[in-house]
Amino acid sequence: MPKIAVLPGDGIGQEIIPEAVKVLQAVLGKNNLKFEYQEYLIGGAAIDQTGKALPLETLNACQEADAVLLGAIGGPKWDVLPAPERPELGALLPLRKELNLYANIRPVKMVPSLLSASTLKEETVKNVDLVVLRELTGGLYFGEKGRHDHPPAAYDVLVYTEIEIRRIVELGFQTAQERRKKLCSVDKANVLESSRFWREIANDVARHYPEVELTHMYVDNAAMQMVRYPAQFDVIVTENMFGDILTDLASMLGGSIGMLASASMNGKKGLYEPAHGSAPDIAGQNKANPLATILSAAMMLRYTFELHAEADQIEKAVTKVLDAGYRTADLAKPHEKIVGTREMGDAVIAALA
Ligand code: NAD
Repeated sequence: MPKIAVLPGDGIGQEIIPEAVKVLQAVLGKNNLKFEYQEYLIGGAAIDQTGKALPLETLNACQEADAVLLGAIGGPKWDVLPAPERPELGALLPLRKELNLYANIRPVKMVPSLLSASTLKEETVKNVDLVVLRELTGGLYFGEKGRHDHPPAAYDVLVYTEIEIRRIVELGFQTAQERRKKLCSVDKANVLESSRFWREIANDVARHYPEVELTHMYVDNAAMQMVRYPAQFDVIVTENMFGDILTDLASMLGGSIGMLASASMNGKKGLYEPAHGSAPDIAGQNKANPLATILSAAMMLRYTFELHAEADQIEKAVTKVLDAGYRTADLAKPHEKIVGTREMGDAVIAALA
C-alpha cells in the first residue's frame, strides 16, 4: 500500500494538515484507492517532545515513505534556541538534504474568482499561469558559513556544482515542454561567477530542447517583471535564494500566500507542503486557509503517484468552492462572509461529490 508520512509540525500546520488528509481520504475513497497515513513529529513540536527538531524516527519514516505531506514548522517559542537547533535549520533544511530533494516546484495560477483578492490590479494578474522551479540543495543556504572576530564579520559561501545546475535546468526544460514551451532562467550573471556558470550550463542543456525557447533574466529585473507583467512567464528556473524570494513574491499573484502549493522532488519521491509558514499570529483560531495544503496534496497525487484524474478532481473542487464564494479571512474582501479552516475543508469535500 502506498505510504505517506504526515508531518503536521507547528502553528497552523496542526489545523491545515487534518483538512488536507480529510480531502485526500475523500477523493481516494471515492476512487476505491487505499493509502497508509502515519503522523510523525517535526519542528518545534518535536523539540518539545524529543529535544530534536528532526527526530531520527521522523527522518527514517520520511525515507521509507513514498511521499511526505508537511504542514509548517517554527514559531516564536523556539526562536530563542541557537540557530542550528531551531526548527527551520534543524529540521527543514536537513530533511530536504537527506532526501536529496533538489527541485522545488511552485505553480501559481490565478483562479478567476479570486482576481479581486490580489493586492495587484486585476488586469495585471488576470492571465497568470506560471511555475517557479527553485534549486533547493545548493547555493548560499548550504555553503560554508561563519564569523571572524577581527574585524567582526560574517560570511556565507555561494557554491554550485555543474551537476546541481544541470539537473534542475533539465527539469525546467521538461516542465516547459509540457506547457507553453517557454523557460526563463533567472540569475545575476552581471555580478556573480556562480550565475555565469549557471548560464553557460543552461545554454548547453538548451541544445537538447530545441522546441523550448530559453531566455535569461537578471533576478532584480525578474522581480520587477513579476509585478509589471507576470503573464509573460511560463516556467522560471532559478537558484536557491533567488527562488526563495521570487516564490513569495509570486504568491501574491495567486491572491494569497494561503493559496500557494509546493512540491520538493527527487525523481518520484516528493515532500509536499504549502509555501507559507506556521503563521503564529492566527494559529489555533480556525482562521488559516487550508487550500495551499489541499492543493499540495493534489500535487502529491499527480507527481508521486501519477493519479492525474484524482489530482484534477481536487483542483476542480477547490476552484468550485472559490467560485461559490467560500473565503477564509486572507481571501475575503470587507463585505464577504468568512469561513474557517474546517469549513473550507468540508466545502472542498462537498464539492468533490
Ligand atoms: P508565515 O507564512 O507563517 O506568515 C506570514 C503571514 O501570512 C502572516 O500574517 C500569516 O497569518 C499569513 N498566512 C500564512 N499562511 C496563511 C494561511 N494558510 N492562511 C491565512 N494566512 C496565512 O511567515 P512568517 O510569519 O514569516 O513565519 C512564521 C513562522 O513560520 C516562523 O517561525 C518561520 O520560521 C516559519 N516558516 C516556516 C516555513 C515552513 O515550514 N516551510 C516557511 C516559512 C516560515
